[in-house]
Amino acid sequence: MDKTIHRIAQGYLRFREQFCSESGDFYRQLAELGQKPRIAIISCSDSRVDPAVITNTKPGEMFVLRNVANVIPERTSETAWGVRAALQFAIEVLEVEHFIVCGHSGCGGVQAARRNEMCGPQGQHLEDLSVWLRHLNEKFAPLEAQVNQLEPELHDEFYEKIGIINSLGNLFTFPEIERRVKEGKLQLHGWYFDIKRGELMAYDAPTYSFVPFDSLVQG
Ligand SMILES: [Zn+2]
Repeated sequence: MDKTIHRIAQGYLRFREQFCSESGDFYRQLAELGQKPRIAIISCSDSRVDPAVITNTKPGEMFVLRNVANVIPERTSETAWGVRAALQFAIEVLEVEHFIVCGHSGCGGVQAARRNEMCGPQGQHLEDLSVWLRHLNEKFAPLEAQVNQLEPELHDEFYEKIGIINSLGNLFTFPEIERRVKEGKLQLHGWYFDIKRGELMAYDAPTYSFVPFDSLVQG
């Protein structure tokens, strides 16, 4: 067996062991009752940013969407169907009470969108990624003058956070989401995960800034 798959298989065997000894009842209950998560989250597909790991949540607690650069396109976008379907399920079937957009540091998708340069390792043009990341590039382009006032090492983070705010804004192009937010049935949240520091920041709309998540938890 291939070494990588072997390692995954070993992981599965450990899961099975735990399933048989401790967590079997938990999963049987989930199977019987179905899923009733109160939270939905969209994060980047980046393998380093796993919402369940960051939040220490169990299966059944969060409905998870992932795509390159955690993009929620506007509802009318031609390329939004996968996201639209998942959103509709989360909002109208599961009726989640919280929706989180989680971006992260060192996001290759955001960086590619910023450069408007979606090429592979051999310099080949990547059409599918280019079309997808255009959602962000269109939003980034007008901000160039603003970002140039920042220190260069802050540029990536600036755009990564703008990506989160953009996705939050686009959630309002979905009438059902807008209605539920207005009625107080749904809360929207923006999170930024700093991989190197292992820290979460939360978007604070009134101040248009991200604040340390720890302060919200303690406050
Ligand atoms: Zn990313």
